[in-house]
Amino acid sequence: MIVGVQPLAGFDKLLHYKVPEHLRAEIHRGSLVRVPILNRPQVGLVLEADTIADVPVERLKNILEVMQDYPALTPDLLALAKWMHVYYAARMESVLEAMIPAAVRDGTRLKEERFLGLARPATPDELVALKKKAPQQARVAEFLAQQFQLVKKSLLLSRLGVTAAVVTALVKRGLVREEVRHVERVAYADNWSGGEVVTGLPPKLNPEQTAVVDSVGESLTKGKFAVHLLHGVTGSGKTEVYLRAVEQVLAAGGSAIYLVPEVALTPQTVSRLRGRFEAAGHQTVVWHSHLGEGERLDGWTALASGKARVVVGARSAIFAPVRDLRLIVVDEEHEPAYKQDETPRYHGRDVAVYRAKLAGATCLLGSATPSLESFANVKSGKYRLDVLTKRVDDKKMPDIQIVDMRIEVMRQRGLVTLSRLLVNHMQARFERREQTILFINRRGYSSSMQCRKCGHVEQCPHCSVAMTYHRADETLKCHLCGHQRGSPAVCPSCAAPDIRWRGLGTQRVEEAVRRVLPRARMERMDTDTMSKKHRFREILSEFRAGKIDVLIGTQMIGKGLDFPNVTLVGLVDADLSMHVPDFRANERTFQLLVQVAGRAGRGDRSGEVVVQTFTPKADAIQYAKRADFDGFAEVELGVRKQFQYPPYRHLIHHLFRGKNPEKIKFYAEHWVKQVEKALGSAVEMRGPTPSPIEKVKDEYRYQIWYFCARATKVVPELVRLQAEMKWPDDVTQILDVDAMSLM
Ligand code: ADP
Ligand code: ZN
Repeated sequence: MIVGVQPLAGFDKLLHYKVPEHLRAEIHRGSLVRVPILNRPQVGLVLEADTIADVPVERLKNILEVMQDYPALTPDLLALAKWMHVYYAARMESVLEAMIPAAVRDGTRLKEERFLGLARPATPDELVALKKKAPQQARVAEFLAQQFQLVKKSLLLSRLGVTAAVVTALVKRGLVREEVRHVERVAYADNWSGGEVVTGLPPKLNPEQTAVVDSVGESLTKGKFAVHLLHGVTGSGKTEVYLRAVEQVLAAGGSAIYLVPEVALTPQTVSRLRGRFEAAGHQTVVWHSHLGEGERLDGWTALASGKARVVVGARSAIFAPVRDLRLIVVDEEHEPAYKQDETPRYHGRDVAVYRAKLAGATCLLGSATPSLESFANVKSGKYRLDVLTKRVDDKKMPDIQIVDMRIEVMRQRGLVTLSRLLVNHMQARFERREQTILFINRRGYSSSMQCRKCGHVEQCPHCSVAMTYHRADETLKCHLCGHQRGSPAVCPSCAAPDIRWRGLGTQRVEEAVRRVLPRARMERMDTDTMSKKHRFREILSEFRAGKIDVLIGTQMIGKGLDFPNVTLVGLVDADLSMHVPDFRANERTFQLLVQVAGRAGRGDRSGEVVVQTFTPKADAIQYAKRADFDGFAEVELGVRKQFQYPPYRHLIHHLFRGKNPEKIKFYAEHWVKQVEKALGSAVEMRGPTPSPIEKVKDEYRYQIWYFCARATKVVPELVRLQAEMKWPDDVTQILDVDAMSLM
């Protein structure tokens, strides 16, 4: 038999090998194998089993070893790898690397443990003799005679206080046998849930939830590919719906993948899931970036062997080698965190939909603020829409109050961090021993300009995105089309001299809070605290225990948090996300407002939300205030349609970088001409223009944007053209299909 193997280290080509007789039964498509490459053993993946070689059979080498009992990729994952390779213009090697964890690729073995058992019982005479001559051996023999199963050697030695030599002597006598076994580490008793596993009886579903569970259940029962979009307001019990769907799948013997944007940020969700599934006897694998190699391998093996049938994890859990996949849940499907920002630049949600399609499974996308991409798929009839319109137990939606910062600046004269309304509310909360969360939006892009008096932001006349300020040559530039103008000294709209940089640091907010609430206990959570995972958990549990009055953090922190005593949420600067050079800025702002508002009033008392902005009339803010997703989506989809932005067309980003700016520019311009010739009207191009950040680590960057109706047509063409052209070594290119932002 001959197989086609894709090497996994620096060799992007399919190679052929012979399979020796003794390995034939073990080898399948998707198996990881060791093969000789340039006379060195390397790891590869079998892409084609039983194939025909492109060289004479005599010259083929043998496969050296099959590395695991289970294929690393199931047939649906193999098909998925091929699709990602083409769709995202990513090298096969990098796709496989993303799909198969390093611990598995490296062929790390499961942890080995030595076990002891009785080979045969000692006769009474033997025992008497042993007790005299070697009392320690006698003790071990007696101890083992009382055990029903094998005993870990290390445990026995420490328990009886004997040395390994004692055991060896017993083995020699033929009384004791020693066995090596693979044991699993505890990947599932993972500590992201803080060790606390929430148990308790599941709640009785309300009528809306019942309807959604039935709707999803129908697709699960049919067992055909279907996508459901669950639009449920914050606190409407979406998680409970996901849980029921997973339970239905597990009960029917299938497997489920449950994606969350970021495991570290959703410890509550993870502990709820584990509590529920493990109580029902289902081992639950938690998959995240902080797993050790050994834990990763164990979790992976548990899934590949079918021992575990449910996995909860971030983006890369979509590649879990589960058997008989019936359901994929994508929680917070609108989250940009699902897009990977290195090769392969895939979108976890989109890959989830495609994998569900390949597996004939149900994909359940859920959000309080669905992405316009998914919503458009509902409108075109591709996805089914399910809705939860009310909070559980008819809890009120929080009341959103908008503060016009232009008026605030006039009244308070000067820089204002906290408005009087927000301060009053915070003080009242502090007196009542209720809690406040202040969000600072760190997605902000410091180089857009905004008038502090009227709120005006300069937009590109051609692209409807904010212009970016360039200090070096005092210009405003559009990074989409390259349009530029001199930067204004006074506001182009109201002529005030107050036009300036945007930007508000966490620190300034902290100082402002100290001034108005000197006795309050306050904590800050940002990327620094997040990287120390223990501190992050500590703060959360202190906050839950009521030891913190005011929590200041970026909106990333707020995801999925459920603190009953939080009755006030403040968004310090809503404009930071709105006036950025990104056509999704309005969508992001709407999502941000609705999501942070959702953190308030989760308990018995209703919540209030204060939003500070210089542009109170903006659609994103007005629709969020009314909690009107449909209204917002309609307006925003109208704008997208007008400019033919996603979801109406695909957006592809092409980055060129290198040390020599002239050379980069030259090649980028030459490239554009080639694409025009080859693709004509199938693609619309913008650029090349310098990237928003023109120079990174001494490399200059130019970019091109492509808009096209059919990425599946255009991307392979771009790849083909790339291969045809001669490129110098010092020009690097990166294609990003379905790029998430214009920044
Ligand atoms: P969402 O994910 O939509 O924000 P959750 O699923 O987190 O909402 O639900 C919010 C809270 O309501 C949780 O504490 C959850 O346990 C509870 N809950 C969900 N469904 C019900 C129900 N049918 N009856 C009572 N409580 C429920
Ligand atoms: Zn423009």
